[in-house]
Amino acid sequence: MSLVDALVLERQDKLSLREIELPMNVGPLDVKIKVHTVGICGSDVHYYTHGKIGPFVVEEPMVLGHEAAGTVVEIGTDVTNLAIGDRVCMEPGIPDANSKAARLGMYNVDPAVRFWATPPIHGCLTPHVVHPANYTFKLPDNVSFAEGAMVEPFAVGMQAATKARITPGDLAVVIGAGPIGIMVALAALGGGCSSVIVADLVDEKLAIAAQYPGVTTVNITKQSLADVVNTASGNWGADVVFECTGSPKAFETLMTLPRPGGCVVMVGLPVDPVPFDVSLASVRELRFETVFRYAHQYERAIALFASGKVDLKPLISETFAFKDSIAAFDRAVEMRPTDGKLQIVME
Ligand code: NAD
Ligand code: ZN
Repeated sequence: MSLVDALVLERQDKLSLREIELPMNVGPLDVKIKVHTVGICGSDVHYYTHGKIGPFVVEEPMVLGHEAAGTVVEIGTDVTNLAIGDRVCMEPGIPDANSKAARLGMYNVDPAVRFWATPPIHGCLTPHVVHPANYTFKLPDNVSFAEGAMVEPFAVGMQAATKARITPGDLAVVIGAGPIGIMVALAALGGGCSSVIVADLVDEKLAIAAQYPGVTTVNITKQSLADVVNTASGNWGADVVFECTGSPKAFETLMTLPRPGGCVVMVGLPVDPVPFDVSLASVRELRFETVFRYAHQYERAIALFASGKVDLKPLISETFAFKDSIAAFDRAVEMRPTDGKLQIVME
């Protein structure tokens, strides 16, 4: 254990920038990373404001942050895929490699997964982290640390686009223009959709999405989303609908949007159970998919950034110094409609 600086969530509503004991020993298959950039996620903010997410309750002080990029400063004796000086980003969820889920390739749903900043596991808002080399990915020279820290939320979009089984030319709808909805829209375009209709209630959120070629936006308080989808598809419906709000309201009209045989991917996580119209889904033989984080998406996400096909830099609204991390979190709590991603730079 070493005494290190960190942004610590002491309990609900109480953050401190202080020293804390964290394990810093580098095992044979680990690397030590000097953290450069950490993105603030909705879940970090939720632990701060509510002290829990579903069954995960903050019962002891916990270091926040799980969207990180940095530089390798030490490698374990058996590490062959990385070298000191490599610029990297880290996948924050570490499964038990021998679990049945991991052996099936679905390591994201391993019940034993240890995920940064999900109680009781500490996160990465600290100057150095020790991480398994197998969950640490090299960034090409043309991908910045800021983009490296965006790989984590983008991987959720990649998982959603993968689960949708997009066919080139598909028309997609994304409900919700928060960071996740926009990541999903960009992954869907990267995966071959010809166009994506992004819907939200807030014009400022939609303006962030509308910067991207291939995206058209609908403010559902002013326009019927079903009408827009019908016009765009010759009254056939969308090939894929991604639900990215978690709002029970969105589920009321969701089933009217996909085409017969289309797919609905549920990315948003409603707090309570939502009603589900089986009959309406059946008459169109809709296919439903769910997403829990991601598995095997980091390398593909980084490749899309490096190719120039996906540019997430316009989504980064402001960058704070580590010493101002509490202010950064308080800014995130404000939920300014014009804010996309807020990031913290450690050095
Ligand atoms: P966010 O709150 O920033 O964005 C949600 C957006 O939906 C907002 O812009 C809001 O205005 C909009 N919205 C709300 N109700 C709407 C409605 N009825 N119609 C259209 N738009 C509506 O959240 P986020 O960080 O983008 O995350 C979105 C959802 O994804 C959350 O439920 C989150 O928990 C979930 N999530 C799931 C996973 C996963 O692995 N499945 C991973 C990360 C986040
Ligand atoms: Zn996150």
